Amino acid sequence: MSETLFSKIINREIPADIVYEDDLCLAFRDIEPQAPVHILLIPKKSIVKISEATETDQSLLGHLLLKAGDIAKEQGYADTFRLVVNNGNGAGQTVFHLHIHILAGRKFSWPAG
Ligand code: AMP
Repeated sequence: MSETLFSKIINREIPADIVYEDDLCLAFRDIEPQAPVHILLIPKKSIVKISEATETDQSLLGHLLLKAGDIAKEQGYADTFRLVVNNGNGAGQTVFHLHIHILAGRKFSWPAG
């Protein structure tokens, strides 16, 4: 698996504002926030994108979703937040290590842009 910006953050090779960590995942503040709360939650396992996840990742993906809700709650937004997973260039993915954007603290329109 090739190194990405996010694997370097996991390995503490580059700094990040980390808000949560456990054996399976890491959460840190987005460097270019799109909302008052904008946190990226990533698996420590290098999965390039959600479309490359497999059955073996089922419990890991469930863990990430549950933690995303916990993190939003810890940030003071238990009920109103948005989770975004960009998959592939055309959908806006720029870092090819799976990540969930946790956005909160403003109004969100629909459909997403
Ligand atoms: P995406 O476009 O879905 O791949 O999201 C990548 C996100 O990573 C963007 O929101 C960037 O602002 C964010 N990002 C890029 N570099 C860093 C960094 N060094 N620390 C924190 N977030 C970053």
